[in-house]
Amino acid sequence: MKSMSNYNDLVNVEELGNKKTEFNEERGDVCFYCKDCKKIVEVERPNPTGYVFVCKECGGKNIAIGTKEGIKDAYRIK
Ligand SMILES: [Zn+2]
Repeated sequence: MKSMSNYNDLVNVEELGNKKTEFNEERGDVCFYCKDCKKIVEVERPNPTGYVFVCKECGGKNIAIGTKEGIKDAYRIK
């Protein structure tokens, strides 16, 4: 059974504060931001059923997940 809003569990961009993050899967544009590299990166997902993501660039797990627009807004990426 496929939950219709699994991705809500993945949003951990706490810097967004009180602003409600609308995470609409249909918008696509899911991306991963490494807080250590301070940029959008590709990630490994060592446990396919888990919510752990590892930055391919630095190997860190300090990854925020969200829509591209949400992350750009939160981290002021141009
Ligand atoms: Zn990184």
